[in-house]
Amino acid sequence: MTKKHKYFTAQLLQWHSQHNDRILPWKGISDPYKIWLSEVMLQQTRAEQGLPYYHSFTTNYPDIIALANASDDAVFKLWQGLGYYNRCRNMLQTARFIATELGGKFPDNYADILALKGVGTYTAAAIASFAFGLPHAVVDGNVYRVLSRYFGIDDAIDGAAGKVKFAQLADELLCRKNPALYNQAIMDLGASVCTPKKAQCADCPLSKHCVALKDNLVSLLPFKEKKLKIKNRFFNFIVLQFHDEVWITQRNKKDVWQDLYQFLLIETASDLYIEDLQLQPMLYQILDKKQTLVFTKQIKQRLTHQLIESKFFTVSFEKKPTNMTQDGMWVKLSDINNYAFPKTIIQFIDERLTG
Ligand code: SF4
Repeated sequence: MTKKHKYFTAQLLQWHSQHNDRILPWKGISDPYKIWLSEVMLQQTRAEQGLPYYHSFTTNYPDIIALANASDDAVFKLWQGLGYYNRCRNMLQTARFIATELGGKFPDNYADILALKGVGTYTAAAIASFAFGLPHAVVDGNVYRVLSRYFGIDDAIDGAAGKVKFAQLADELLCRKNPALYNQAIMDLGASVCTPKKAQCADCPLSKHCVALKDNLVSLLPFKEKKLKIKNRFFNFIVLQFHDEVWITQRNKKDVWQDLYQFLLIETASDLYIEDLQLQPMLYQILDKKQTLVFTKQIKQRLTHQLIESKFFTVSFEKKPTNMTQDGMWVKLSDINNYAFPKTIIQFIDERLTG
């Protein structure tokens, strides 16, 4: 370790010993199951948003066997609203793998942790260091920010070469005596002081030798080369109603919101007029000539790579249609909360069906 590296690590640990005030239930624990749970929940999610989910999961499923034995529907229901449902699917698969293949014992070395479904290098390093005290440096968005600014590195953090460079540097800086404390310290600094906007350089323990601060580069680092491409999608949800029942179906294709429930969906390449929508074959055969759709609500939801514009149309029946072409079921509105829906549909249900 060079002198500059030693100074960085020492300053960081010193700061953390005095400013360890970001209290969260998964901090400082060594139970690999709970650490894993928290890390999976916090991928692309703020700690404040993940906190109630962490509490309800650890209460309902206090250990990996309890989670592995839970039904898909119950777990998805508990996850509802947290988004990025692939995480939930992988989490369940991993819990069941550990329960059946590993005798319920969480793997205790980096390679085996990394081999778990849904676990990448960051999560593996976090579990290895926090639960088992192993010398693996975490590299997440906070770490990229602190390192790129302090050392003035302008390699793209989303490029292959940049990733290798940052991973090597993070490894060199890691405190081998206490990797868990060091990892926690650098993530806390990135989350509370070296923040994406309005970094608090005046309160930063690293300000004396920070390159970005000296060269006025704080707002320019870290650097990313790729601009996110956003795909626009148009979802037309047809809410079929029969007295106090609605028709729902499960999304079973590999796509957003997989395994969650929805109303009859007609996805179109562009935003359609209601008259054109009504002529879509799937609807044409369900509706009789006198029935018309009623436009009820539009909700936009931005996911990482997609902007989903959802329109909701309602239509009531006196007799349940028998010529549905998709698998689905009629459920009473009083039971609808037993099913897990994407956030957009929950908003519609709360505002227009049950609220
Ligand atoms: S001095 Fe400012 S830019 Fe540099 S590491 Fe500290 S908070 Fe980040």
